[in-house]
Amino acid sequence: MTNQNDFASLGLAEPLLRAISEAGYTTPTPIQAQAIPQVLAGGDLLAAAQTGTGKTAGFTLPVLHRLAAEHVHPRAAGRPRCLIPPPTRELAAQVEESVQTYGKHLPLTSMVMFGGVGINPQIAALKKRIDILVATPGRLLDHVGQKTLDLSGVEILVLDEADRMLDMGFIRDIRKVLALLPKKRQNLLFSATFSDEIRELANGLLHNPGCVEVARRNTASELVDQSVYAIGQKQKRELLAWLIKQNAWQQVLVFTRTKHGANKLAEYLGKHGIPAAAIHGNKSQSARTRALAEFKDGSLPVLVATDIAARGLDIDQLPQVVNFELPNVPEDYVHRIGRTGRAGASGAAVSLVDGEEMKLLAAIERLIKRKIERAVPQGFVPSAPGSDVEVNDERPPRNAPRGRTEHKRPRHGADAGRPAPRAEAHGNPRNKAPRAQAATDAARPQRQGEARNDANRRPAQRAALFSAKPGNGNR
Ligand code: AMP
Repeated sequence: MTNQNDFASLGLAEPLLRAISEAGYTTPTPIQAQAIPQVLAGGDLLAAAQTGTGKTAGFTLPVLHRLAAEHVHPRAAGRPRCLIPPPTRELAAQVEESVQTYGKHLPLTSMVMFGGVGINPQIAALKKRIDILVATPGRLLDHVGQKTLDLSGVEILVLDEADRMLDMGFIRDIRKVLALLPKKRQNLLFSATFSDEIRELANGLLHNPGCVEVARRNTASELVDQSVYAIGQKQKRELLAWLIKQNAWQQVLVFTRTKHGANKLAEYLGKHGIPAAAIHGNKSQSARTRALAEFKDGSLPVLVATDIAARGLDIDQLPQVVNFELPNVPEDYVHRIGRTGRAGASGAAVSLVDGEEMKLLAAIERLIKRKIERAVPQGFVPSAPGSDVEVNDERPPRNAPRGRTEHKRPRHGADAGRPAPRAEAHGNPRNKAPRAQAATDAARPQRQGEARNDANRRPAQRAALFSAKPGNGNR
């Protein structure tokens, strides 16, 4: 049966419309509405779109349509027709998952491959016919070197997250890959930002491209509720643990600047009763995959990541992001907070900023053209000496209503009127200490306008509130 949803008017084939319907989408996002007809028409495309806009479906759907529409010849093994080289392993896995989701009713095959795992199973898989290959650049070139992969049949190239690709130093690898592709092909380039380097790459790659743009350059998502806590470096981890418990955050992505910092922080949180795992380039791929899967399914409340590891991650309705340190490059702040508030969902981003980071904060505020709200952790008392934290140290007497952090989001929907969840959810024995007790008093009355934001909902509850994609709670 044909699905009469808004996607039908874009000209996509029936098996794709069926898969879209099963994914729970009814309306194309702006990038999809603009990009799909252009890709279907066969020309090159330059698209300015951040993650979270639905861009993956924006290129996957028309690519699948075009590949399926073409007369099927018996094809050689290990010779893909479409190549997608994303910058990170996690992104590669995600993109291929989308290919599978949307292509499930089509007789097309796909494969994902990246480094950090054994090459032999990949070599075995490349002995079969593959229509769409999603592969990180390094492993892609390894296979080319071993002659287990033939790129001469590529009809469509998709460069997704092109700006990240360049930031991560993949330009030389990408140029090597480009040199191996047939001259006549369709090229699609997606990038959140447009530096001179990206323009140069686009100029050399694309021929008379159509252009689509859905978000202004470097615009911090307006759906993300942003706030800053001024706090000394030494007290940050204590404040973070306090915030997690105080707000009963159940799914929070924390960014640190270094891999070592990510490890130390995850360890600290774990010791304080908050299950956390770190992901970064020094972790084995299996550890990264496991941590991400647990984080996505809600069983691991805290994932601590470096910028690189977290790039392009699509965590369905991630409610809360924390910048444990501000990034050195202001644009990275925008990418980080873009992990939440995706595809119409609301989200919150909190930054812990010490004196030395104030300059970085000013640069970020210049970039996003707005001042980020300063929050005060009322009732938080750091134990570490030399505190330069701005706190309201007037602790209320025990059993009295407690002060709390100042998230300004109004309560609404299923959360309105619901008592604040108990912060003991993570089972921290320290919650019994008087100071922590002050922080976790769940029985306190809620003041009008006091926020228990979306961050506190369990995935299922959040999914129910996000009607745009009811069938998509599995990512
Ligand atoms: P992306 O920007 O491709 O990472 O997609 C962000 C999220 O939006 C993913 O979780 C998709 O499943 C979801 N999504 C994509 N297209 C739609 C749509 N038309 N309606 C609702 N959600 C969508």
